[in-house]
Amino acid sequence: MKEYDIIAFGTGSAMNIVSPLINNPKIKVAVIENEKAGGICLTRGCIPSKMLIYPAQIMYTLHRAKEFFIDAKAKADGDAILRYVQRHVDEESKMIERSLKSHPRIDYYQTTGKFVGDYTIDVNGKEIYGETILLCNGSKPFIPPIDGLDDVGYLTNREFFYSLKHVPKSIAIIGGGYVALELGYFLAMMGSEVHIIEMLPEILMTEERDARRLVQRELSRFMHFHTGHRATEVRKSRGKKVVAMEGENGTTEIKVDEILIATGRAPWNRETQVEKSGIRVDERGWVITDEYMRTSKEGIWACGDTNGKHMFKHVANYESEIVFYNAFGGRNVRVNYHAVPHAIFTEPQIAAVGMSEEEARKKHEILIGEYKYEDTAMGLAMKAKDYYVKVIVDRETYRILGATIVGPEASVLIQEIINLMYTRDQAGAMYRAMHIHPAMNEVVQRAFYNLREG
Ligand SMILES: Cc1cc2nc3c(=O)[nH]c(=O)nc-3n(C[C@H](O)[C@H](O)[C@H](O)COP(=O)(O)OP(=O)(O)OC[C@H]3O[C@@H](n4cnc5c(N)ncnc54)[C@H](O)[C@@H]3O)c2cc1C
Repeated sequence: MKEYDIIAFGTGSAMNIVSPLINNPKIKVAVIENEKAGGICLTRGCIPSKMLIYPAQIMYTLHRAKEFFIDAKAKADGDAILRYVQRHVDEESKMIERSLKSHPRIDYYQTTGKFVGDYTIDVNGKEIYGETILLCNGSKPFIPPIDGLDDVGYLTNREFFYSLKHVPKSIAIIGGGYVALELGYFLAMMGSEVHIIEMLPEILMTEERDARRLVQRELSRFMHFHTGHRATEVRKSRGKKVVAMEGENGTTEIKVDEILIATGRAPWNRETQVEKSGIRVDERGWVITDEYMRTSKEGIWACGDTNGKHMFKHVANYESEIVFYNAFGGRNVRVNYHAVPHAIFTEPQIAAVGMSEEEARKKHEILIGEYKYEDTAMGLAMKAKDYYVKVIVDRETYRILGATIVGPEASVLIQEIINLMYTRDQAGAMYRAMHIHPAMNEVVQRAFYNLREG
């Protein structure tokens, strides 16, 4: 049996840990990957989706041109954009694959690795042993049980970025989370008829109510929303795909050219047979990690989507740093999730950090500060209607507990708040720091000026 100092599952965040170690000539590493090299973010997640969102935003701006007395008619070539994004991802992924294959101290296994015993993994019928194991095996699309789905065929984010050749004329997107909305937004801007089918009463249910409603209000101009509807059955009819969905008023059907499933993420841990090595998982199959990113098995560390906590690339990167320090640097660094941010790149954007208002209320006496974009000079210039910044601080200490921003560049504006959440001064610094007039950031500062009893 071949023995390694490190076995790494996944070529995304695991590589953050392996890269700084691999210069050591004494080290021998096995890397196992069952998909394109580079991980989800590069090959079928953040990067290709944002490469689609940017041209979508250009189209959206052109749609709004009339409001600013500009006559702009434009037609996008969505197929060319898809091709360009897929080509880019493929080239980057192949580059990573080549460097993994050619590295003298790395053995690269392109297969689904399965634990067969303590620290022992089967790779294509061969067993390998690892002293330290990095379980960074990410997540995969969750496929809901809908009759006929396998017969009719469907896309997930994977096919979207690996093989979709044409922007479909019409599409049913099952799911109303951020992946559904970002990809739907792109398709709608490329001229596709997009139907979002969400069984919950509203889209983006994990976001603040006002924020998700503003997104739905704006995107309803370009997309059809079927909230409170559960897709129950799909079938083929005269070259089309028929999707049946059940709502309050019974069953309705729509005919579309394509179906995209975006109903959340599922773990890979069953296929990886993690329980054979004594790694504990929770009731949904996510790996249980402690505050040092240790699994229940000594020497086996986990980071990223596989623990099912905060499934974002920046979190996976952060957690991989903790693994690096604790597993290889002799440190005992605790993970700190007090200021985990995320952003949704739709129109408008939503960005949030830390606690929601509901959560903050349960744990603290709070002050809330809100300010609308349109009440600042730049917001007015942009005709940003009803978009806002909302901050929540602890009444006693003025420590920032959380924030939500919905509107243009929300993902950028929120960084100002995130950074403060890592300082001592927090809200105080926001008051004192001069803000450029009339830049968009004024809306953030004024939300703090506006703090009131919550
Ligand atoms: C469409 C989409 C858009 C997204 N956009 C954003 C965004 O804008 N910003 C953001 O922060 N996050 C975004 N994410 C989430 C982000 O991509 C993930 O949180 C992150 O990439 C996870 O990294 P990881 O290191 O956990 O897994 P990765 O290393 O990226 O993936 C693990 C790899 O291991 C493979 N694997 C699993 N089991 C095995 C096995 N047994 N043997 C071998 N290989 C195995 C998997 O197939 C996978 O390729 C997006 C996700 C999707 C789907």
